[in-house]
Parts: sequence; structure tokens; C-alpha cells
Amino acid sequence: MAFESIKGTRDILPEETKKWVDIEKKIREVCRRYNYKEIRVPTFERAELFSKSTGKDTDIVQKEMYTFKDKGGRNLALKPEGTPSVVRAYLEHGLSSKAPFHKLFYIERMFRQERPQKGRWREFSQFGVEALGSKSPYLDVEIILLGMDFFRQIGLSNVEVHINSIGCSRCRPNYKKHLREYLLKKLPELCDDCKRKFKTNPLRILDCKVDRPKLKDAPHIYDFLCKECKDHFDAVVSILKKQGVKIIMNHNLVRGLDYYTKTVFEYVVSSLGAQNAVGGGGRYDDLVKIMGGRDTPAAGFAIGLDRVVLAMREKDVVSNGIDFFVVTIGEETEKIGFSILQQLRNIGFSGEKDFTGRSIKAQMRSANKSGAKYVIIIGEDELRAKKVRLKNMKTGSEEDVILNEREIARRISEC
Ligand code: AMP
Repeated sequence: MAFESIKGTRDILPEETKKWVDIEKKIREVCRRYNYKEIRVPTFERAELFSKSTGKDTDIVQKEMYTFKDKGGRNLALKPEGTPSVVRAYLEHGLSSKAPFHKLFYIERMFRQERPQKGRWREFSQFGVEALGSKSPYLDVEIILLGMDFFRQIGLSNVEVHINSIGCSRCRPNYKKHLREYLLKKLPELCDDCKRKFKTNPLRILDCKVDRPKLKDAPHIYDFLCKECKDHFDAVVSILKKQGVKIIMNHNLVRGLDYYTKTVFEYVVSSLGAQNAVGGGGRYDDLVKIMGGRDTPAAGFAIGLDRVVLAMREKDVVSNGIDFFVVTIGEETEKIGFSILQQLRNIGFSGEKDFTGRSIKAQMRSANKSGAKYVIIIGEDELRAKKVRLKNMKTGSEEDVILNEREIARRISEC
């Protein structure tokens, strides 16, 4: 019997791995600039961690979590999202007693038994940030900006920021009451899923893809926010605008997890179709306390890297290729070509050559495919003149350069 990967999982082959490595590098660069420190958490946790934090009535916990009993009879779950694990680690290691404020990031695999479709897998990766210990609106903004900065770094310029506030435990119940009254009249028209959510999680009905068009006249939560939540949201919006971030107010944005308070936001790439959210996040001021810690305001986001890769592919963002590709013609030139290749690699450049004895035309095609910035062509004429032909693949211009790795390196560096 031939084995196949499990439904909703997939292999990432070398051609794509490069993109992932580049993305991870950019994540680490961006997080360094914003002073977020990396945390790594286990793949599985006690299932109860997620029912207590993500929420027992959420789709993630009710329908999608991979749970199992281990040989010791413990109820475990493959982690469906990162925030609960990070907060658990924060509490378990007493981070709050080491410093009042922590900024963390992670790149982790997540597992959810959802119906696989474009942009939705059962195993996927998230880049997340969590900042614990501040209620400042500047922190909400910093987090949103960090995400946008990351998208810019990887060449994704078509990301929109959708934003809303879902209030706090003081003002949300009043809104829920009004929303329920409104929804009660609409209930017969709503889908079965929303009918179920009406009792358990009415806010989630607002972002149901099926019913959303019928709910355009739903009451806006903004009109029900308490003074503290309203002031906070107004401040976040005003700072974002000052920073030149174009935001889309989305009164129906509620996010699927229980722990959010105040600001919620999503990064959206409209062209991706049904699964167009590339990331989402917000404040979760009550979560640390719910999980047994002290009152600790916090905020964060999770960006779905698989969808980011999809969006990059659609936009045709090619990740940077190698610095140079050596093309040679004949045995003698191959000898020289190989030593130039190795000398340039030794001083830090990334390079490649053909190892299959192909024609010049085929070698040029490989060079193109590799994304090389330069092609170093060494023919017999060049060899006699102790020169190489250097082709700039971006501009198409060609020039002769002395056959010396330092000279070639100098020209390549000027690219
Ligand atoms: P969430 O934790 O549900 O807020 O998701 C945050 C981000 O993770 C989403 O915006 C998606 O980009 C990504 N994501 C969530 N679920 C999946 C999935 N099943 N497959 C791929 N990416 C996902």
C-alpha cells in the first residue's frame, strides 16, 4: 500500500521551503527591531487549557480540536492556537515577577480539524506576538504596525487592516442583550449554525459568512462601549491614523475566540477569496487573570503563514534568489567556473552552477529559475582574455570583469 499524507496536511518541498525560510528570517528581523523575544512552546497541552481560555463554546474547542488521551489517561490536545500556551508559560515561569512587561513572539505549528479548502489546512503555521503587562493604546498600535511592517518586508503591499472594539466584561453584556433582541427577529432566516450560536455565542453570528449580508442593520457595539473602552478605541484609531495606517472600521468583526476585550483586528487580503484573513488579533485584558494570574492587560496577534505564502504566490512576490549563477562552456571553463563559485561562496555570496552538463541555453534557463541576481558567464574567449562576462539579470546589462573573485564580488555587491 502506498502511503499518502493525512487530509489537511501537506509536505513543503524545497522550492517552497526557501520562501518559508526567508519569511522566518524576516519575522526574526522585524521582531528584533520591535524588541519582541522568541518563545517556543510544546506541541500539545492539557485540553482544558484551551476550553478555559479559547472558550468552550468556540468552534475551535467544540469542533476542531485534536484531542486524545495519553497512556496516563490525561486529556490532551494538539495546540489549535498559541496564546493560551504562551500565557500558561508566562504564568508557569513567573515571568511577571521578573519584569512587569514582556514582549514575546513565536513561530509554531497549529492543528485544527476543519474542513480543508484553499487557505485552510489541518496543520498550519502561525507567527504570533503577545505583549503582556500594558493597557496602553500605543501597544495595540505597535502590534498592528509590527504586523504591517512584516507584510511590507515580505513584499505584500495589499494587506488591509480591519478593526473594531468588542468592549469589556462591563459593557459587552448590555450590547449582547440588544443584539439578542435584534437577532431574535431574524432567527428564522439564519443558518443552523447561527441558530445554535444564538444561545451560546451571539456575537459570532455577526461574522457568519452566510448570514452577514442579512445583518447589515445590526446594532453597532461602538454605541454601547463604556467610557474606558470608547476612549481606548478612539485613541487606537487616532494613533493609527497619525501613523498613516489606512484602517477599515468593521462593526461586525468579533473574532472567534472568547478572551478578546476592547480592540480586535484582522489583516485581510481580499483577493484570497473565502479564507481571506491572513492574520488577526486584539487585546485580551482578562485572560491572565482567568488563567490564575494577576490582573495583566495584554494584546497580540497571530498571522497564518500558509496563507501568507498563498498571498505571495498570487501577487507573484518572488523571494530573493541566490546572488549569482555560473555558466560555463566546456571542460576548461568548468574548472575555472567551479573555483570562482567556491571562492565567492567562501566570502559570503550565495551561488550555484549547473551539475548536469547542459547546454548554455539550458544553463541560462536554470539561472533564471534560481532567481540569481547575476550570471557569471565563462566561455573560452573569456578564459583566454582572463575575463568573465557578468550579466545583471534585473537590468539585462552585460559587462566584462577581470577574472578575479574580489573584482567580481565588488561588482555583485554594487547590485
Ligand atoms: P485565528 O487563530 O483563528 O485567529 O487565526 C489567525 C490566522 O491563522 C488566520 O487569520 C489565518 O491566517 C490562520 N489560520 C487559521 N486557521 C487556519 C487553517 N485552518 N489553515 C491555515 N491557516 C489558518
